[in-house]
Amino acid sequence: MNAIDIIAKKRDGKKLTAEEIDFLVYGYTSNQIPDYQMSAWLMAIYQQGMDAYETAYMTKSMLFSGERINLSRIPGPKIDKHSTGGVGDKVSIVLAPLMAAAGLRVPMISGRGLGHSGGTLDKLEAIPGFRTKLTADEFYEQVEQIGVAMIGQTDHLVPADKKIYALRDATATIGSIPLITSSIISKKLAEGIDGLVLDVKMGRGAFMKSYAEAVELAKSLIQTAALNKLAIRVLITNMDQPLGYAVGNWLETREAIMTLKGRGPADVMILTLALGANMLIMSGKATDPQKAMEALRKLIYSEKAYEKFAEMVVSQGGDISYLLDPGKYPMPKIKYQIRSSEEGYVSGLDALEIGRAVVKLGGGRNVIEDQIDFGAGIVLNKKIGDKVAKGDLLALLYTDRDRVLSEVIEQVKNAFAFSPEKVESPKLILKALAKM
Ligand code: URA
Repeated sequence: MNAIDIIAKKRDGKKLTAEEIDFLVYGYTSNQIPDYQMSAWLMAIYQQGMDAYETAYMTKSMLFSGERINLSRIPGPKIDKHSTGGVGDKVSIVLAPLMAAAGLRVPMISGRGLGHSGGTLDKLEAIPGFRTKLTADEFYEQVEQIGVAMIGQTDHLVPADKKIYALRDATATIGSIPLITSSIISKKLAEGIDGLVLDVKMGRGAFMKSYAEAVELAKSLIQTAALNKLAIRVLITNMDQPLGYAVGNWLETREAIMTLKGRGPADVMILTLALGANMLIMSGKATDPQKAMEALRKLIYSEKAYEKFAEMVVSQGGDISYLLDPGKYPMPKIKYQIRSSEEGYVSGLDALEIGRAVVKLGGGRNVIEDQIDFGAGIVLNKKIGDKVAKGDLLALLYTDRDRVLSEVIEQVKNAFAFSPEKVESPKLILKALAKM
């Protein structure tokens, strides 16, 4: 077997065997296959796709590139949530401790920012000292003792995803259904969970731009989870405009902290409660979605969820003083206000352009080695449906990069569209699908 033949086979649209997929995934993970051959193979998959069997083989190869944690000795349902990626999506940071406060075990392996879309690991690492690298034993103990741990892929846990994910980010091969499916399901199987709730994003800021593509991704995720006997529920949700107001790592973590204290944006709260209700139902701890959401809301307003978050931050080495006093965070020196030259209603707010603008401001990566400026980003002041008068604040930009400022100001202004007519804010949750 050799890498060039396997790359050519996929380039020509043929189906790969489990052995061929293993050969490339293990070869790459063990540094025997170089980045350039893996990149060519990923691009061939991006262009030609993979069928359900190939996707399942790819998922298995990635899963068995590392260990699979066995949480069966820890009592209680182990349920996790994952999102396919969007802009301003800080839901995991609120949801994971919330569900632990509700009695679930949440062993969460997350990813870094991909392209224009943010990543939970980068957002958590914005808290000074927060460690997203725990050993398998530390991860196990924290899930047992606190009920929640949030970490990244390691050299022991889905190392194939760690390497391939970073390479996809730098080779324009993110938005591929089999690659997203295998990346997500392999990570989630490695955690040793009983069930998974997935937030499949669709729209401008998502990797799936249309509803039809989002349904196709949801079906691929459901099918691959079912082949691996993992119970799954999927919500398809709108990502045409960013979620919440903050986009950028620390800004989003700060907004997540506000949400945990019951003072977050309505859309972040609604989505968190909807995903959480599905997790509770999946765990058998609830049957009625409305009652489940009410119970979760109480855990937020009583600050039980926030306390669980603080407990997790301390356990993972984070400096709690930034939670108690977010205002003390060292912010970038430039804080620029974008004001409206139009009046009417916001009719569009392009999440893709906002996500790209945040990367330019320093809040994301263009190449694997790029360092993130955690404080960089955008806080929106208006969203779709809001009334706007001339001179109203539309957005605040935070950056240390003066050289990109004028370009980003134009980009953010152009991300807004206005209408003289009243506009409804878009429906957030579009569809729910399940497979147990
Ligand atoms: N989230 C993941 O974990 N992987 C992807 O490929 C996309 C989103």
